[in-house]
Amino acid sequence: MSPSSNAAAASSRSDDRVAVRMEGVDKWFGDFQALKGIDLEVANGERIVVCGPSGSGKSTLIRCLNRLEAIQQGRIFVDGIELTAGAQNVEVIRREVGMVFQQFNLFPHMTVLENCTLAPMRVRGMSRAQAEQTARGYLERVRIPEQADKYPAQLSGGEQQRVAIARALCMSPKLMLFDEPTSALDPEMVKEVLDTMLDLANEGMTMLCVTHEMGFARRVADRIIFMDRGEIVEVAPPADFFERPESERTRAFLGQIS
Ligand code: ADP
Ligand code: MG
Repeated sequence: MSPSSNAAAASSRSDDRVAVRMEGVDKWFGDFQALKGIDLEVANGERIVVCGPSGSGKSTLIRCLNRLEAIQQGRIFVDGIELTAGAQNVEVIRREVGMVFQQFNLFPHMTVLENCTLAPMRVRGMSRAQAEQTARGYLERVRIPEQADKYPAQLSGGEQQRVAIARALCMSPKLMLFDEPTSALDPEMVKEVLDTMLDLANEGMTMLCVTHEMGFARRVADRIIFMDRGEIVEVAPPADFFERPESERTRAFLGQIS
């Protein structure tokens, strides 16, 4: 990334308080429309939980925010930079967005420490010593400093997911995206990952989390987004969402999961 392209991205910044803005976003997979006219604004520091039935477009929505999926219509801004305005902005935004997947996606042939230092060294140009110091700090924060020299396969699922979170944090992201981070875990490991996410929320991280953990949503979310069939059907603070859902579709969903 050249300094001039950073400047170009910076010059298209708009409102500093807005972490994410989606305007009229349509996403098609062939002739199937996965996202339909999505409008969404997320403020800096806001915690958003995205829920909805399987296939409703939750993963697609958050994958569009770092362009793991391209969109066909509409505009997306992340941290005031327009993602949809060119490849150079995609690179800038990807450095600012951390993503945690259901299946951890750690590099299996690298140790925990190497997983955490790779991107900061390659993408941020950190020295090895500096990257390792940063990584050990984050491994401490997700409470697994003693696992630094192990390989992913030597860890439990909950530990691997905490490594994935630490790895994302090592890039100092402005925004963290979570796609069902606890869905692949044995029940006894769910809490340790949710506690890590809770810590992050309490530190003021801007977060978009796709999750079915409604207890977490109630405790942590500033707003809950309910999606169905590619649309945002309802957006509400947890108290309203759970006690006074407006949409019949939301009520049906909540009836099924509770
Ligand atoms: P969710 O995360 O809410 O379960 P997804 O965002 O993964 O839903 O998928 C939304 C819809 O888009 C689903 O019907 C799914 O089958 C479809 N879809 C997702 N990814 C692809 C793809 N790569 N190719 C074709 N269809 C896809
Ligand atoms: Mg999904």
